[in-house]
Amino acid sequence: MRLEALHNELVACRRCARLVAWREQVGQEKRAAYRSWVYWARPVPGFGDPEAWLLIFGLAPGAHGSNRTGRPFTGDASGDFLYPALYRAGLANQPSSTHPGDGLVLRGVYITAAVRCAPPGNRPTAEELAACAEWTRRELGLLGRVRVYLALGRIAHQALLGYLGLPRAAYPFAHGRAYRLKEAFLLCSYHVSRQNTQTGRLTAAMFDQVLAQAKALAGL
Ligand code: SF4
Repeated sequence: MRLEALHNELVACRRCARLVAWREQVGQEKRAAYRSWVYWARPVPGFGDPEAWLLIFGLAPGAHGSNRTGRPFTGDASGDFLYPALYRAGLANQPSSTHPGDGLVLRGVYITAAVRCAPPGNRPTAEELAACAEWTRRELGLLGRVRVYLALGRIAHQALLGYLGLPRAAYPFAHGRAYRLKEAFLLCSYHVSRQNTQTGRLTAAMFDQVLAQAKALAGL
């Protein structure tokens, strides 16, 4: 209930003028394939199991993915890579994620991002990251059972370090690297973006290994 109340507050946020303008412009102009959709075009709340042991932390909503559907990694190539992997790992009840009413349920996993509004070019500014950190602090503060923080990409990793109060120099980003924290682990992976998965920088086998590593760190 506390997460739901937070999300109700979050979706009304208009703190970042540039992102508010962009998310709404994209929602008006739309991609031709989604012409019949009413885009979400608001901040995208986290999604998943409130009792999660694994927190997956992305960068920001995709303009025509979660900015359209209103759920993280839903409706674009990133989600088409991430959710089948979660399904293979036994962390999701189905491999597909197309819209909020599609029946997808995550088991032990919660997904959110460093910035909750779609940024132009997938590049939020430092000021926008700082502005959205308050939502991260409040949202992650309501997840009391996280044992592994999985950062997708360098920027998400740095945002997580900020949340955890850890210095960047002591915790550099590297794919597959894990850090022991006081009561949890911090694990790094390349982002599941189309750019990374289509070029082979991140393969399904590599990401399966990351999820297996997360389970091992959690003692599962
Ligand atoms: Fe608000 Fe975060 Fe969206 Fe900025 S990016 S408008 S802080 S929800």
